[in-house]
Amino acid sequence: MSGSQGSVVLITGASSGIGKACAELLSARGHIVYGTSRRPVEAAPPGYRMLELDVTQDDSVQRAVATVLSREGRIDVVVNNAGHALAGAAEDTSIEEARAQLDANFLGALRVCKAVLPSMRERRAGRIIQVSSLGGQVGLPFQSLYSASKFALEGFTEALRQEVAEFGIEATLVQPGDVRTQLTQNRVCVAKAGAGSAYRERFEAVLKAIESGERGGLAAEDVAKKVLEVMERGAPHVRYPVAQLAQRVAVV
Ligand code: NDP
Repeated sequence: MSGSQGSVVLITGASSGIGKACAELLSARGHIVYGTSRRPVEAAPPGYRMLELDVTQDDSVQRAVATVLSREGRIDVVVNNAGHALAGAAEDTSIEEARAQLDANFLGALRVCKAVLPSMRERRAGRIIQVSSLGGQVGLPFQSLYSASKFALEGFTEALRQEVAEFGIEATLVQPGDVRTQLTQNRVCVAKAGAGSAYRERFEAVLKAIESGERGGLAAEDVAKKVLEVMERGAPHVRYPVAQLAQRVAVV
């Protein structure tokens, strides 16, 4: 069912960027899409529904998943996309800042997986698509915790894939390179990145490089097309070399 029209799809982080592009494309293809975000969305978007969901809150995840299951009776596909980028030197990063990054980008996906797996297992069908990053394949300096969160997501997903395959559930990683979205504007810089930091000049140079990479990067719609391809044709298992990945989206 996860490839055919009319699949029930839950997409986290659908208020902007890649998640929003996925919600628009998948609903235009006839899928029943539930997008989510922390911020309540004022006007309902055409073609899909929005639910409130903060991936860092167990209750919030449980509530949103229960709402979709009670309305539709099933969830065929989950796109774990919600996330933010923490920037700053590792030495300047507080444990609280690190924890918040891992909580959103890694544990958030784990929470959603835990909430949807029982019903997928019972139906012996389902697909979990994890939006990772180039930063999940190489360590990005001054985004070490962002990289750590995506490496964690990748290791988790490779293991999960093997645990759930016998229940007819597939877990796939999508690794975008640079994408033009709100991620940079929404970036959280570590509190200590300012005047007193020994890394300040190099950090600022890296931020400029990130911004120009994203300006020249892919459109969110390119990633959405890859997600659709995974849904409709299964995972082709492509892992582009890192040098190419900045301008592409790999599927693993
Ligand atoms: P955006 O900032 O445009 O979108 C991020 C989305 O995640 C928003 O909808 C935001 O909604 C949501 N979000 C953030 N934190 C939470 C949370 N705690 N709970 C629920 N939702 C949350 O960035 P992108 O579209 O670029 O990012 C989407 C994913 O793509 C991220 O996982 C990112 O790491 C990944 N990615 C992005 C790349 C890029 O170059 N842009 C490259 C590779 C991967 P709200 O704030 O309303 O909750």
